Amino acid sequence: MENDIEKVLVDEQEIQRRLDGMALELEGDFPGEPLLVVVLLKGALVFAADLLRRMPRMLEIECLSVASYHGGLDSCGVVSFLDRELPDVRGRRVLVLDDILDTGRTLRAVVDRLLGDGALEVRTGVLLAKAKRRAADVEANYVGFHIADEFVVGYGLDYRGRYRNLPYVGVLGRAAR
Ligand code: 5GP
Ligand code: MG
Repeated sequence: MENDIEKVLVDEQEIQRRLDGMALELEGDFPGEPLLVVVLLKGALVFAADLLRRMPRMLEIECLSVASYHGGLDSCGVVSFLDRELPDVRGRRVLVLDDILDTGRTLRAVVDRLLGDGALEVRTGVLLAKAKRRAADVEANYVGFHIADEFVVGYGLDYRGRYRNLPYVGVLGRAAR
């Protein structure tokens, strides 16, 4: 698996150090109040697990499955909600966590949906944000790392379902695609 990675973009130590900072920032921004965290599966699984264990406060975790990529390299533009039931967010302050902000369509659709379902406030956090023009009008409130516009895997991000368990973020070599 490691041999398929052409270059490491963000290594394990950098990620772990940055998560310390993000957790502190979040603690400061949501003082005291009960927080509902919505984790977008499967990409944000690893990021959320490491980040939320750095936050010694009361919070609840819900997961949402959304699809936009369908396993390939390019977003198809349509965001679908895959769960039969969505978490009850009425009157709640919500933090949505995703792996990466690319076109922005996923976060836009999720934020709109949660606000439409009655959330009091929705903020967003991503491990990675690609430098590009977003198709949807959205930026994340918390960003781990800003990266160039290239396809990455690892630390939750996959290519055809694989590479999510790499402890770092890297670029997949041509031969593996
Ligand atoms: P957006 O809706 O912002 O275009 O895309 C968000 C979703 O697309 C992410 O949650 C992620 O699943 C997928 N995605 C976008 N860019 C990449 C990438 O470089 N690598 C991988 N593995 N997934 C990506
Ligand atoms: Mg995803």
